[in-house]
Amino acid sequence: MPIHEKSLIRPENLQVHENLEVEGVDVSGHWSTFIESRVVSDYNEAIEDEISALPGGENIHRCWQCGSCTNACTVHAINADFNPRYWIYLIRMGMESELLRDKDIIWQCVSCNKCTYACPRDVFPEGVMKATAHWLELKGHTPKSHSTIFDEIFSEQVIETGKIEDGRTIRRFFKQTGQALRQPWLEEMVKRMLRNLPIGMLTRMGMANFIQPKTSGWSGARDAIKEYVAEQEAHHRAALGLDDLVKMAETELKTGAAK
Ligand code: SF4
Ligand code: SF4
Repeated sequence: MPIHEKSLIRPENLQVHENLEVEGVDVSGHWSTFIESRVVSDYNEAIEDEISALPGGENIHRCWQCGSCTNACTVHAINADFNPRYWIYLIRMGMESELLRDKDIIWQCVSCNKCTYACPRDVFPEGVMKATAHWLELKGHTPKSHSTIFDEIFSEQVIETGKIEDGRTIRRFFKQTGQALRQPWLEEMVKRMLRNLPIGMLTRMGMANFIQPKTSGWSGARDAIKEYVAEQEAHHRAALGLDDLVKMAETELKTGAAK
């Protein structure tokens, strides 16, 4: 059942007649305001299945639209357009074009998980926001976000070495996202570390810049994790029909070349 919120009414769908009389009654201005009905003709029935196939989206079908997630949401408190309940509704209804209108703010979820604790149905709305942002990227609706780039760099390093090495991760992240390495907050953090950390730890951190630390005997775990990740990625690609799209594009290219 749709829930109407004033903040969700698009301005172009509001109609007000400055001068209107109905059966002798003056209903000019505010009294004649009405909402033009929307006709949605481009349903995507697959969208709920696609998003629920991505990590975090699994329980989206459990939502009963109580709105507790939006009510508790940190980002919603400063931007009313950020509305997890509404996006879950759109996904479950297959209203892809409506969802795409908000594609540039869905990634702004800060993963505070207030929604997760507020949700009475264990939908895990934070996970749904992540899955939706991931879906938007995989489908090419939005470019890869900084958050995704950071996740990839971090995961790659941990999988390869079995270690978390912050310095390398930050340097690679800044390089890939075109940001300068000298950032005021980073300089301040390094100054505090130099002042407060034990000399032994600082020496090990400095050495790690030249010799990448690795967990001994890690290769077995690394191969198993890589195999699992490859399986999961193949599963996600299949669920979103991405392999079919690639095949179609290849066929079109071959057909075009043959003409
Ligand atoms: S995790 Fe994201 S969606 Fe949930 S309350 Fe925090 S900002 Fe809002
Ligand atoms: S709190 Fe849970 S059940 Fe309620 S609208 Fe949000 S996701 Fe749905």
